[in-house]
This record gives sequence, structure tokens and C-alpha cells, in this order.
Amino acid sequence: MKASSGLGRLPELALRERRKGLAQRLPPVTEILRGSLLQRYVTCGNPACKCAKGERHGPIWYLTVTLGPGRTAGGIVAPEKVAEVRAWIENYRQLKDRLEQISDINRELLRRQRARQRQRRPKR
Ligand SMILES: [Zn+2]
Repeated sequence: MKASSGLGRLPELALRERRKGLAQRLPPVTEILRGSLLQRYVTCGNPACKCAKGERHGPIWYLTVTLGPGRTAGGIVAPEKVAEVRAWIENYRQLKDRLEQISDINRELLRRQRARQRQRRPKR
């Protein structure tokens, strides 16, 4: 783990500021894609085509997404969409990373709150 390791040493105000900064820099949540973009060589299904003899079409861009253990989905991406798809995949990665960091901060804030409550309570 990276970002969370140093949180314990930061003052609470710094944690809140960092959280605010992360929230403000979230990528647009409507412009995200989970998956990987890769290039593939494909057959078109026409038995008379050259691809049926091994000379496949391509490379074509392909988006592949893991849906669960052993389950993937995917589809062809038009060349003019590749840049956008790349950007959306990157947005997804950043969004996930920043949400994870915000969650780490919130966990740390909870932990401190609890520590303060315990200090306040008189011991018997
Ligand atoms: Zn073909």
C-alpha cells in the first residue's frame, strides 16, 4: 500500500484538506470504462475469405472486461474511438484510486474519533 501508510502522522486538518482535494479532482464519473484495450487479429466467418486460411484481419482494437471468475465480455472498438476509450479507462483507474484514498482518510478519521472518545471517558 502507498498513500495510506503516512496518514497516521498527518494532522486532522491536513487529512480533511487532502480529502477535499481528492474529491475536487475526481474525473467525470460518466466518462469511465473498466477494462483493457488490446489489439487482436480476427476471422470474419466467411469461409471464402483469406482469413479462413489463416490470414486474419487486423489488428483491430478490442475492449475486454472481466465480469467475474472466468467470465469476460468485450467488443470491437472503432479506430476513431480508441483515444476516447483510452481516456475513459484511465478515468476509471483514477476514480478508483482516489475513492480508495478518500476511504483510507475516512478510516483514519474514524479511528481518531474513537481514540478521542476513549480518552474522554473516565476510567474506573
Ligand atoms: Zn475474413
